[in-house]
Amino acid sequence: MKIYLDNSATTPLSDAAKAKLTEAAECYGNPSSLHEAGLAAEKLVSEARKTILSALGARQGELVFTSCGTEATSLALFGTAFAKERRDANRILTTDSEHPSVENALQRLEKYGFEVIRIPTRAGVLDMQRLEASLDKKIFSASFMMVNNETGALYGVGEAFKKIKKKYPAAITHCDAVQGFLKVPFTPERISADLVTLSGHKVHAPKGVGALYISKELIKTKSIVPFLVGGGQEKGMRSGTENVIGISAFGGAVADIYPRLKENFEKMTILGKYAEDKLARLDVRLNLPIGEKAPHIINLTLPSIKSETMLHYLSQKGIYVSSGSACSSHSGKASSSLLAFGLDAHSADCSLRISLSEYNTESDIDALAEALGEGIDTLVRIKR
Ligand code: PLP
Repeated sequence: MKIYLDNSATTPLSDAAKAKLTEAAECYGNPSSLHEAGLAAEKLVSEARKTILSALGARQGELVFTSCGTEATSLALFGTAFAKERRDANRILTTDSEHPSVENALQRLEKYGFEVIRIPTRAGVLDMQRLEASLDKKIFSASFMMVNNETGALYGVGEAFKKIKKKYPAAITHCDAVQGFLKVPFTPERISADLVTLSGHKVHAPKGVGALYISKELIKTKSIVPFLVGGGQEKGMRSGTENVIGISAFGGAVADIYPRLKENFEKMTILGKYAEDKLARLDVRLNLPIGEKAPHIINLTLPSIKSETMLHYLSQKGIYVSSGSACSSHSGKASSSLLAFGLDAHSADCSLRISLSEYNTESDIDALAEALGEGIDTLVRIKR
């Protein structure tokens, strides 16, 4: 028995993605080549682009394919920062709990003289008063995530971006929607985002493919320059021969899920609530945001058992969860998202993330709750 409950780290390939992947594997041409083999590859890439733009509800603007969500965010943040030869503003707003792909890029920009202000997100709520107070000086850009990858908190990016744009219409807004795309309904226009980061492997496509949505306005005003330069692929925005197989499978995965977005959201809401109710009966503390949350991510703190110990216990039973985001588990540091949420370092170290996909069922949750209950009894007894 294998129960996969780590869908925010990555997701299994969907049948639709596998079918597109197999089809594209037969298509060996380079999309930049002018012969028929090249045109066939280009057709696959442009078909995927159309599908994803339409699932994004983007009526205008471009989609640039990248190697992952991290690269899309680097293009967004460095590409806009370096497009401005004479910056008339250097303040960047973000949150105190962004994914490292945003946080580490912004730390680098701080070294180039940008002022980065991190708005608190205690209990999973973006501090709007602090945001408003930070608008006392002209804003260059803002980068806010849609769904926090560890707590599932929804930060109300639309409201935040609208406030920023109202005062500074030229401010550039970037949203890391890696955990939100095809999980919660949104369009770049509705959330006033100029740039949106997406990642294939969180939506049942393969690893190694991501995309950045860029608004028409940003392109028209030349407010973004490429980060990877070379042969000029992706309309010059991202050089390097396209990953045709990955891109095509990304399109296939999106075409499959998008029509079920509403249905899946309702399913995840019911399943998420079922899981929260079941888990709340155990000796754990649920770290639920006090504001809105995406239903597919649930974070909990164990009674003084290190999350890694519990993760291995569950893994031996064929149940896969996460001891924090897959990225922060490499660094060995306490998760900055959980610290920002309000947990102390010890509690953060004892916290597990359960993340669902449409493939999960109530019986997966029952098995998890049973194994977790047994695990707590066993591991607490060993400690005594
Ligand atoms: N942003 C968020 C919120 C994520 O959860 C992740 C991956 O976990 C990323 C960005 C990075 O995406 P990728 O793995 O495609 O680089």
